[in-house]
Amino acid sequence: MTSVNQPPRPAAQAARPIIEARDVYRSFGQTPALVGATLAVQPGEMLAVMGPSGSGKSTLLHCLAGIYTPDKGEIWFDGQRLDTLSDTRRTELRRTAFGFVFQFGQLVPELTVTDNIALPLLLGRAGRKAATARADAWLPRLGLDGLGGRRTGELSGGQAQRVALARALVVRPKVLFADEPTGSLDTLTGEMVMELLIGSAREEGTTVVLVTHDARVAAYADRQVLVRDGQVMAIPEAAVGAHAAPAAHAAGAEVAAETEVEVRR
Ligand code: ADP
Repeated sequence: MTSVNQPPRPAAQAARPIIEARDVYRSFGQTPALVGATLAVQPGEMLAVMGPSGSGKSTLLHCLAGIYTPDKGEIWFDGQRLDTLSDTRRTELRRTAFGFVFQFGQLVPELTVTDNIALPLLLGRAGRKAATARADAWLPRLGLDGLGGRRTGELSGGQAQRVALARALVVRPKVLFADEPTGSLDTLTGEMVMELLIGSAREEGTTVVLVTHDARVAAYADRQVLVRDGQVMAIPEAAVGAHAAPAAHAAGAEVAAETEVEVRR
């Protein structure tokens, strides 16, 4: 019981996680990808999931997002069990509450920038006029002014990834899942995309789960965890954080050494 003499717990500690994996196991045939992975992400938090290639990062993200069902363990989203929902309800939830950005934007090259961004709204049966207006509102925010009518097949990698980001955010998701979102970009373009991703997510209050093996990308997050051999490990909080950039980079360097970080030009 809390004594009246004790200070109240900080809100961040008291908040219920928005998304959580509890002791999750997932194998592919004989290959174990997750072996008791546990992770809780707080509302509005920006979390970087780091780790070497093949450690289980993407599988964890796919389980959290309800794309893969765990063999064992539980996934919770906003107070409800996600992994036991019907396929229909899980798909619906994914469409309305989650946004996704992958290494390669997975845009529809024949469609215009505006139509690509509006796509999730149209799939959600929004009217075309309203969907287009909401899509176009994202163009100036992401430095895509004047590109609404351009086919996405004609864009640069950085432009395409910003369109993918707008498409993920246009539904105003509660959680944005990003899997190596800068993996196909050069360093400078990657930094620009990360600034926009973090900036837009903060403005919208969106929780971010960011999978990366690049320490420089992870340093944008509030907190970093390390996935190794299918389990999630904490990285000491004192070493990382938005207000401790030099320390974050120092911690990043250690993780980089451990995770064979890819150094791009
Ligand atoms: P990471 O994202 O850290 O690179 P993954 O989650 O992609 O790791 O993979 C973890 C393990 O699971 C690896 O051994 C990988 O080969 C295996 N794996 C992942 N996805 C599949 C799949 N679709 N089919 C078979 N094996 C897979």
